[in-house]
Amino acid sequence: MFSNNKYPIEDLKKVKCFLLDMDGTIYLGDNVIDGTHEFLDILKKQNKRAMYITNNSSKATSQYVEKLSRLGIYSEEEDFFTSVNALEYNLNLKKPGAKLFVLGTPVFEEYLIEKGFEIIKEYYNEQEKRPDYVILAFDMTLTYDKLRIACDYIVDGVEYWATHPDMVCPVSGGRFIPDAGSFIECIYGTTGKRPSFIVGKPNPCIINVIMDKYGYKPEEIAVVGDRLHTDIMSAVNAGVNSICVLSGEATVEDIEATPDKNKPRYVFDSIKDIYNLLRN
Ligand SMILES: [Mg+2]
Repeated sequence: MFSNNKYPIEDLKKVKCFLLDMDGTIYLGDNVIDGTHEFLDILKKQNKRAMYITNNSSKATSQYVEKLSRLGIYSEEEDFFTSVNALEYNLNLKKPGAKLFVLGTPVFEEYLIEKGFEIIKEYYNEQEKRPDYVILAFDMTLTYDKLRIACDYIVDGVEYWATHPDMVCPVSGGRFIPDAGSFIECIYGTTGKRPSFIVGKPNPCIINVIMDKYGYKPEEIAVVGDRLHTDIMSAVNAGVNSICVLSGEATVEDIEATPDKNKPRYVFDSIKDIYNLLRN
């Protein structure tokens, strides 16, 4: 266990809401990480909240509820906050009901339609038919046509946002599949343009929206995650507590090689250590 001297370990007992990354933090593939159940139980007993945050924009929150339930973890849809929820929040700040050209899964499109946005499917020259935004998500149904039309609109100057920057998504068998960040590079290669706004971690947007929505102060929030460039950086950028667990991607060597200002405030072997801290 490691704690940056500037941040006493006792400060973690004041945290009211833990924002948990999932893969590498509470489970690895289909295996729950030891201590997860005890950690969630003690939060409930102490009247604290756990929320799950994820950059993945290919799934509906109901699919995460099912996945956790298969692992024996009870959750409700309100316990999840994804890059898609934060995207919707920001679109509503800018232009409720905006017209969108979307690179995303059917589940992603349905969510946006449900929230009052209009999905444009074709390329139009007529100004009144054109989208207000091109939105790039984790599109596991990507086609060449969608890619070509998105590039045309982006070159024409339509504002372009992405849900998250991850290059790859881990899947079973230790393999990786192309994620939104790889599509960003593909579009950059064609258009010379990158998104003007990328919603997900390391952008602090998800955390800021949660603080705004539920009224938490920064010292009452702690992000728990296994990736330095996304989980920990989002907490650093939001000015909230950051806990790196060594049960997933990041290693002690990675943390040592990170500049001080971007280091996690706390490092634990796994979520079990946070449980041990809270119960004492
Ligand atoms: Mg992770």
